[in-house]
Amino acid sequence: MSHDKNCIFCAIARDEAPAHRVLEDEQTLVFMDIFPVADGHVLIVPKSHRENLFEITPEEMAAVARMSRRVGLAMRHALAPEGLMVFQLNGAAAGQTVFHYHMHLMPRREGEALALHTRVPGDPTRLAENARRIAMSLEILTDRAGSDQRPR
Ligand SMILES: [Zn+2]
Repeated sequence: MSHDKNCIFCAIARDEAPAHRVLEDEQTLVFMDIFPVADGHVLIVPKSHRENLFEITPEEMAAVARMSRRVGLAMRHALAPEGLMVFQLNGAAAGQTVFHYHMHLMPRREGEALALHTRVPGDPTRLAENARRIAMSLEILTDRAGSDQRPR
């Protein structure tokens, strides 16, 4: 796994910085956005340092997409949002603020104002609680899928 020693998401992926982790697989890591725009705001990153869409490999992008479906289903199960926004920003001009590819999964409510970022950190207790609830739903849904899971 390539990494950038000045990158906060690389530090989180290598377990060298704290995060409210939800799940990981071979290629991706899922954790709560420390500056949540909405309650339950999640990020999915490739474990390798890839700045943006132009650097990530198709395989890593596919791994992030697969994970986004799995986590999205768990967020629906755990948090019951009215909608779920999935987005990914490339370059400062597009609003990217951490230059390690990341996909946002953001619960949405009807009529709520739309924002992409905030500078207000989330309440650590609430972040931990949401991470735990989503992780629990992931387990429940994975158990339910059971024999439906095709072998690799
Ligand atoms: Zn990085």
